[in-house]
Parts: sequence; structure tokens; C-alpha cells
Amino acid sequence: MQRSNTWIWLLLAAVLLLAPGPAGRFLLDLVGGLTLVLLLLPLLLGAAGFVAWQVIQRRLRTCEACGFTSMATDQCPACGSPLAGASPAEPGDDQLDVSNVTIDVQVVDADPTSPDR
Ligand SMILES: [Zn+2]
Repeated sequence: MQRSNTWIWLLLAAVLLLAPGPAGRFLLDLVGGLTLVLLLLPLLLGAAGFVAWQVIQRRLRTCEACGFTSMATDQCPACGSPLAGASPAEPGDDQLDVSNVTIDVQVVDADPTSPDR
């Protein structure tokens, strides 16, 4: 029973795949897309994990007193001593706000009668 069922599904898939038309094409696209996703998913997950690890690593601070590594910003959760660089500058404080910057481009007419042309 189970075996004949499998064959029916295989036949159906083969007919859909071989059948010229939107159904077969759609199925082919679907299988191709699924394959692509299955192939690219590990890569994407790896990249996301790498970025997350980088972000976490940047936020980690090591206590100078006891060597405890944590994501606390001001005080060591293990021994309570203040962490070095307790108040880091806010990101973007000393940087230009790009949305407020205007770039002036001056159009200078080149003199067509200048002798150096
Ligand atoms: Zn500590």
C-alpha cells in the first residue's frame, strides 16, 4: 500500500515536471528555488552568526580587577568594580550627521576663449 502510494506520487511529479505548461514550469521553479534556498541557507546563517559574534565581541568588556568578561557597561557583575571606559562616547557624537550635510557643487564656466584650450 505504502509502496504504490509512493509510485503514484512519483508518477504525478514526473508528469508535472514533464508536462509543458505553467504547472510544470511552476513546479520546476519551486524545486529550483527550494534547492537554492537549501544551498544558500547555511551560508546566510553562517554570515549572520559571524556578524552577531562580531557585535557581541565588540560589546564584551573584561574586568581589570578580576578578569571577568561580560556585556555590562559600567560595573563588573562579578566583583562590582567599575569597568575601564565606563562611559563610552555615544556613537555618532563626533561624527557628521550625514542627513544634515549639504554638499555644495559650484558650476564654473570654462572660458571657451582661454588660450590654454
Ligand atoms: Zn570584576
